Amino acid sequence: MFKKILIANRGEIALRVQRACRELGIKAVVVYSEADREAKYVKLADEAVCIGPAPSAQSYLNMPAIISAAEVTDAEAIHPGYGFLSENADFAERVEKSGFVFIGPTPESIRLMGDKVSAKQAMIKAGVPTVPGSDGALPDDPAEIKRIAKAIGYPVIIKAAGGGGGRGMRVVHTEAALLHAVQTTKSEAAAAFNNPEVYMEKFLQNPRHIEIQVLADQYRNAVYLFERDCSMQRRHQKVIEEAPAPGIPRRLIERIGERCAAACKKIGYRGAGTFEFLYENGEFYFIEMNTRVQVEHPVTEMITGIDIVRQQILIAAGEKLPFTQRQIQLRGHAIECRLNAEDAYKFTPSPGRITAWHAPGGPGVRVDSHVYTGYSVPPNYDSMIGKIIVHGDTREQALARMRGALAEVVIEGIKTNVPLHRELMVDANFEAGGTNIHYLESWLAQRERG
Ligand code: ADP
Repeated sequence: MFKKILIANRGEIALRVQRACRELGIKAVVVYSEADREAKYVKLADEAVCIGPAPSAQSYLNMPAIISAAEVTDAEAIHPGYGFLSENADFAERVEKSGFVFIGPTPESIRLMGDKVSAKQAMIKAGVPTVPGSDGALPDDPAEIKRIAKAIGYPVIIKAAGGGGGRGMRVVHTEAALLHAVQTTKSEAAAAFNNPEVYMEKFLQNPRHIEIQVLADQYRNAVYLFERDCSMQRRHQKVIEEAPAPGIPRRLIERIGERCAAACKKIGYRGAGTFEFLYENGEFYFIEMNTRVQVEHPVTEMITGIDIVRQQILIAAGEKLPFTQRQIQLRGHAIECRLNAEDAYKFTPSPGRITAWHAPGGPGVRVDSHVYTGYSVPPNYDSMIGKIIVHGDTREQALARMRGALAEVVIEGIKTNVPLHRELMVDANFEAGGTNIHYLESWLAQRERG
C-alpha cells in the first residue's frame, strides 16, 4: 500500500480524499493556491505545498508545479479529484512518466473517453446503447450532412467531439438552420477545444439523466454500483442527485449496468468511472463517460456502503476488487443537495466570509464540506462549498431527512442556494419522482413569472 498520496485538487474533494487516506493509514499531501492558504484541509493535511497564485492556470492546472510537489514530498501516487486535471490524459501520462501512480484510469482510456466521437464508437463496439446519430464525425459535404440529419430525423443536436461542461452543443429543428449551425459549432469547437470535429445526434425531447457508477481493477474485474438520477439540472449543471432512480424497473438497471461493466472489461478500464445516459421511454442512450470520481459519488456510497474513494486508491495500488457483483447490495435511498455560494434564484456567485456555519446532523445525514465559521469562499473557483447527503430506508424517509437537514443548516455571511433546495424538497412533482432534465429550468421560469 502507498505510504503517501498527493491530492491535486481543492475544496471538499481535497478533504474527502484526505479522509480516505487517513482511514487507510496513508499520509496525505495537499497542494494549494495562495487563495486557499487558510483552508482547513490544508492545515489538517500531513504536508502542504503552495503551488502558485489563485488563478487555476497557475496553480491547480499547473502540471510541473504539482509534479515537483510530489517529488519534494516523496509522494508515491497522485489523486486528481474531479475537474481541474482529473480528465487530462497528458497529465496522467506525465504523472506516470515521472514515476508516480496516477489514481485513475490509463492515459489511453482517458483519451478514448475524452473524445466523444471515439467514446461513442467504443461504446457501440462494446454493446452499450447510444443516441442514434452520425457514424463518427460529420463530413464536410453539405449534401451529405443534410442526408444524415434527414435520416436521423429532426430535431437533431450538433455536438463537439472535444466538448465538455455543457458547452459546444447546438439544437437544430429544421433543415434550413442545419448548415449554419454545423459551421458555427465547428468554429466554436475549434476555438474552445482546439478540435473542430463535430457529430450529430437525435435530440431527445424529455429525457432523464441517469448514470451508472462502475469500479474496475487492473485484472479486468468490473462491477457496477447501480445508478444515480441527476435530472435536476440547471444549464447542464447538476443541482440534486439521488439513487436509486425513482420508477425505473430494476431489471432495466441491471441490464444496462451489466453492459457498462462488460464495456469496462472490453476497453481495459481501471478505477472508478461513470457512464452517463439519457433515459427516455424505457430506453438508455449513452452520452459520455467520466473517467474520474464524481461530485455525486456519496449517494452511491450511501446505498451500497462502498467507499468509492477508498476503492480508487486500492485499485491504483494494484489490489483486486474485494467484492463480486452479487455481493453488492442496494439498501434504501439517498439524496444529495449541492450547496453553492450563490444567489438562490439569480445564481450570481456570492464569494466572501462565512460568518456562521452550522452543519446539520442526525441519523442518515452526511455533510461533505471544507467550510467553517470564519472561512472565506474565494472568488476564483467553482461556487460549490459542499454537499448534504441523506440516506433513508425509503425515498420518503430520505426526503424527510433532507428537509430536516436543510432546516438545520446555518450559513451566514454569504448567499447560498439553501432556500432553493428547501423549496424543491416540498415540490409536489419532485416529491413524486422521475422529473426530466428540463424540469428545474421550467420550474424556475414559472417561479420567476410568479
Ligand atoms: P458535456 O460533456 O458538455 O456535459 P454531454 O454530452 O454530457 O455534454 O451532454 C450534456 C447535456 O446536454 C445532457 O445532460 C443533456 O441535458 C443534453 N444533451 C446532450 N445530448 C443530448 C441529446 N442527444 N438529446 C437531448 N439532450 C442532450
